Amino acid sequence: MSSAVIETVSITEFATTTRNWKDSEGHDHASEEPRPATGSILTVTDSDGVSGTCLFAGDYLRPNVMEEFIRPLLIGRDPIRREAIWHDLYLAQRGAYGVLHDRALSFVDQALWDYAGHRFGQPTWKLLGGYRDRVPAYASTMCGDDVPGGLGSPEDYAAFAVKLVERGFTAVKLHTWMPPVSFAPDAKLDIRACAAVREAVGPDIKLMLDSYHWYNRSDALYLAKELEKLDYLWMEEPMDEYSMSSYKWLADQTSTLIAGPESVEGKFRSRAEWAASGSVDILRVGVLSAGGITPALKVCALADAFGMDCELHGSGMASIAALGAAHNARWYETSLLHPHIDYDVPPPHLQRVPDAIDRDGFVIFPDEPGLGQAIDFEYVAANTTGVR
Ligand code: MG
Repeated sequence: MSSAVIETVSITEFATTTRNWKDSEGHDHASEEPRPATGSILTVTDSDGVSGTCLFAGDYLRPNVMEEFIRPLLIGRDPIRREAIWHDLYLAQRGAYGVLHDRALSFVDQALWDYAGHRFGQPTWKLLGGYRDRVPAYASTMCGDDVPGGLGSPEDYAAFAVKLVERGFTAVKLHTWMPPVSFAPDAKLDIRACAAVREAVGPDIKLMLDSYHWYNRSDALYLAKELEKLDYLWMEEPMDEYSMSSYKWLADQTSTLIAGPESVEGKFRSRAEWAASGSVDILRVGVLSAGGITPALKVCALADAFGMDCELHGSGMASIAALGAAHNARWYETSLLHPHIDYDVPPPHLQRVPDAIDRDGFVIFPDEPGLGQAIDFEYVAANTTGVR
């Protein structure tokens, strides 16, 4: 048995491109041309030279986070004992006053799960239990905009949904219009888009809505009641999620399934309160926002104990790994899609689109060891801007 310990923890930053740009409220929109972007890879390497990596956009792991928290809590530890390492990072969060954020925990947890896959020669989704080897994907649109040929009207959403169904998707989630788009928010317009999409794709396609996140109770109830008539599968986050009682008020009055929370902090502990209080019908968790695959699976188990489904928020191979383990997580979120972006074309730092759907709308899980992120390490080496 190997007694390898973690020897080095490093960040590689590299230049790449993206087809997304963010508006003043942080929503992604489509860019006509590729834009410069920074990619990062967290690499954890053991004393035998075996590594695990986590690819992420941006520079969330600043030098102080690495020096004060991550290296001291990882170096010299057994990299297979993720639960112990994760718990120590979790305990360190209280005194870190937000500096050691949930994303940092997630990047470490993902790298350690990727490491385990390389160490044992197995895909991570199988190491996690391998409940399934493929999952249906839903097409998650970008927010509405006012761009020609984009998502500017209910008719635009309907035409785009038809294209997505033709590509193979069996489910579509609309993100409708949010500020700073000048005519947003507008709950009636949201429902016009939902109705146009239902009309265009017919009764057999599953549909979901994620609207403006700061509607009041009456607008949220209006949306839910209209979606009952349109046979939508679920609705998520129409209101600020810090008011859990607003969600209980909403869920108690509609047969539309309410899914959440997405943005609330507190990982599995806060989600336990949402499940126990009946504030949602489908529990949600993101591998990024809840601190990794390890805590996300606790949320799936928690939902299971209440007889609830648990939906994974956000795309990426860590979500795929979790979906391979949790029987009550039923859909993969392919995001974020827009008529101006061809999702089947990978960014330059990937060898392929690792989470591409087949013609039947399924993501087939990877065969290779680890998370299967499909990083093009030659591209990364040629475009590295710093290693620290
Ligand atoms: Mg959402």
